[in-house]
Amino acid sequence: MISVYPGSFDPPTNGHMDIITRASKFSDKLYVAVLNNSSKNVAFSVSDRLSMLSKITEGLPNVEVVSFSGLLVDFAAQAGASHIIRGLRAVMDFEYEFQMALTNRSLDDRLETLFIPTSVQYLYLSSSIVKEVLKYGGNISHMVPEPIEEFIKRSHS
Ligand code: ADP
Repeated sequence: MISVYPGSFDPPTNGHMDIITRASKFSDKLYVAVLNNSSKNVAFSVSDRLSMLSKITEGLPNVEVVSFSGLLVDFAAQAGASHIIRGLRAVMDFEYEFQMALTNRSLDDRLETLFIPTSVQYLYLSSSIVKEVLKYGGNISHMVPEPIEEFIKRSHS
């Protein structure tokens, strides 16, 4: 089974890493796909996000980090993927994720979206929270994998 886990990953967090690790176990191949969409307001460049994700997935041989633009269904078809992976946190994710899943299915009904419930310790963790804490110089070591913290420290110094 070939899966695609799409997202902004701006920056990648422990919550993302948890989903990547779990999805890599039941996928033969997992593409972690960074959305390169210029209309989104992002803090980290696509190349920085690709570097960060590549670093934290080094130990997972069936995971490949890529970027894509345009429609997810087009990227998935091109990659030969049958499943889209999305993580679900609290109720706040539900409405948007449901809408995306139904939209993607209406565009390509060969693609199934699989939702993986977050691990409870990451329930309220998001890239936005990480960015907010970073803005005021707070500690993010419990929110992101160590290589991500190092990368951010280096790129901000
Ligand atoms: P997007 O802009 O596509 O929502 P994100 O990088 O914010 O990109 O999220 C990508 C995916 O990862 C989404 O499915 C989101 O719900 C999931 N996700 C984000 N944070 C967590 C977390 N703490 N636990 C589980 N899933 C998460």
